[in-house]
Amino acid sequence: MTFIDSHGHLYKEYYEDDLDQVILRAIQADVTKVVLPSVTSQSLADIFSAVEQYPDNLFPLVGLHPTDIPEDYEQELSILEKYLDDPRVVGIGEIGMDLYHSTDKLEEQRIVFARQLEWACQRRLPVSMHIRSAYAEAIEILREFSGSGLKGILHCFSGGIQEAQWAVKEGYLLGVGGVITFKNNKLKDIIKIVGLEHIALETDAPFLAPTPYRGTRNESSYIPIIAQAVADIFECSIEKVADVTTANVLNLK
Ligand SMILES: [Zn+2]
Repeated sequence: MTFIDSHGHLYKEYYEDDLDQVILRAIQADVTKVVLPSVTSQSLADIFSAVEQYPDNLFPLVGLHPTDIPEDYEQELSILEKYLDDPRVVGIGEIGMDLYHSTDKLEEQRIVFARQLEWACQRRLPVSMHIRSAYAEAIEILREFSGSGLKGILHCFSGGIQEAQWAVKEGYLLGVGGVITFKNNKLKDIIKIVGLEHIALETDAPFLAPTPYRGTRNESSYIPIIAQAVADIFECSIEKVADVTTANVLNLK
């Protein structure tokens, strides 16, 4: 039984002192593959140095996060785009829309998200999407890519059942992390309806640690805790959750 953490920030910026131990604990917990999303081009040096050290375990994404869009975003996008030629890059992320704190950069978010989705289509790379308080706006853009073969994960899925059903119909996976272990989360009902074959496990480490580590620094070795919560919902074995969710993520290739 092995797991994939489909979204974890396992690099120096977040694990200054003990990155090696964090990665070794993940591997010992059978989390043998971790996908590392970038947020800006500045995170790429740390990400690629981690990937160089653990080429069989860590897999980089390249992308510009919606809340990190700089003034000169064209310049930033051109830096990021060059990295896409690196054969180690497995996808584009994290990209998307986030209007939770502010709607000031709505137009820039739209442009940057759409541009990166175009890259994904042209290069046949899957995307890791961060969508927060912006499902209507993001889906409006994603509709333009309907039928294009675009694949990806709605990382840390926080939409409702209608958004979930739309997403799985389009072929996207729902990213399920620590939130699934919290009391009174609506995600339990949603994933039960959409089914195990449409979800990917993730930690979003160092954020969103599952219960009983809620509020502390998250890490990829906690994936089995999330998988057990999912197994409880589907009333199946954790091995089945591992097998199906691993296959789901590998199918994005
Ligand atoms: Zn993230």
